Amino acid sequence: MTPPVPAAGAAGTDHLRWQCSRCAAFSPVGDLRYACTRCRWSGRLTLVIDYERIGAGRPPADVLLTDEHSLWRYARLLPLGAGGGGARRVRSRYVAGWTPMHRADRLAHRLGLGRLWIKDEAGNPSGALKDRASVVAVADALDRGRNVIATASSGNAGAALAGAAAAVGLRCVVFVPRGTPPAKVTQISRYGARVLVVDGDYDATVRLSTAACRRWGWYCRNTAYNPCTAEGKKTAALEIVEQLGWSAPDAVVAPVGDGNILVGLYRGLCDARAMGWIDRMPRLIGVQAAASPAVHRAWARGAADVRPAPAGTRAESINVGEPQDGFRALAAVRNTAGLMAAVEDEEIFAAVDWLAAESGVYAEPASAAGAAALPALVARGELGSADHVVLLNTGSGLKTAPSANGGSAIPVAADLHAVAALGMPDALDADSEVDLDELEQQW
Ligand SMILES: *Cc1c(COP(=O)(O)O)cnc(C)c1O
Ligand SMILES: [Zn+2]
Repeated sequence: MTPPVPAAGAAGTDHLRWQCSRCAAFSPVGDLRYACTRCRWSGRLTLVIDYERIGAGRPPADVLLTDEHSLWRYARLLPLGAGGGGARRVRSRYVAGWTPMHRADRLAHRLGLGRLWIKDEAGNPSGALKDRASVVAVADALDRGRNVIATASSGNAGAALAGAAAAVGLRCVVFVPRGTPPAKVTQISRYGARVLVVDGDYDATVRLSTAACRRWGWYCRNTAYNPCTAEGKKTAALEIVEQLGWSAPDAVVAPVGDGNILVGLYRGLCDARAMGWIDRMPRLIGVQAAASPAVHRAWARGAADVRPAPAGTRAESINVGEPQDGFRALAAVRNTAGLMAAVEDEEIFAAVDWLAAESGVYAEPASAAGAAALPALVARGELGSADHVVLLNTGSGLKTAPSANGGSAIPVAADLHAVAALGMPDALDADSEVDLDELEQQW
């Protein structure tokens, strides 16, 4: 028996408000507005919390549900606008969050970093960080009595939504762009969602799905447009600092497509700082593919906002031309004295391999983009042997087609002589006599 997730506090939800990231207008947390109507839908809504009311300055154990090994341990910091009944329903049926942190000592040593941890979001039920956003959105949809939930997705958001919807019995519609890896499309449809493969790119898919949600009255989970997405993802940052014993690393490195993960990390760090649980902010380092560089370009120009840019990376989860959370992502990087980096596709695909081989974490290409930036960041002196760094593994490598070609696996006959002929590393004493036929029989 686990205790129920409380509604956001004895005071109901009075201590929570949405605020537009552009015009700073407030709206009640119980309203579902998706984005700021005053800013003609371009303003993103950020949760503003009256931290005093939930115990700022008190130890985390007084505020968190410390027996809860899921993202709902941070329930008091989440937008349970319509009461929390939906959270109670999804919480134990689709357990997202509280993922492991691996200490990647071998890789830290090779790269020349003081310490490196990998926050492994592949441990979520659908295999990606997106589950954090989807369960909070599903909880919200349930609270509002909505029975169909939809999203645009490059694959992972759709899988996360379809899985969570299947667990609680919501109907789900997912729009993916053409070229989405077959394993991701299959996963979404196995969860029972209706999957529409749009003849267009991710940006066209976002536009189409938003229009379809309006047309048919579906609850819309679209990344950044639905403010529950960044608020759900912020729990990854809360877990990082909690798993480090309530201390901030020097930097957190994450891949950037729409920029919503980066914004989520920033939101979680702001919450932890405001509650008094960490005493400084880590630098946020966002990494884009050089072939899909909209946010990186804006950062390099010193611009306050992101303009659309051509998008052509093969790392589909970050192949975004018009980032849906670019404005807030730029602010997150600036406010933490962080930076944006860009990496070539060849570097990304090479990083899938060396990350897996030197840390035991098999990431999908978009996720490996974060790792791919590390060698150059160390070479430039942005990170070094004094730094404690957390790298976010945003999604499992098992879901992506290019990596499903066997890698450098070698075919061999079912015969020990054939194995020996390939030249194997010998862990036996050099002078011990080995009879291959005898050995094979023993096994
Ligand atoms: C969605 C996703 C990203 C990018 O996140 P944004 O919020 O779009 O910046 C990175 N990696 C993986 C595996 C993803 O699924
Ligand atoms: Zn606004």
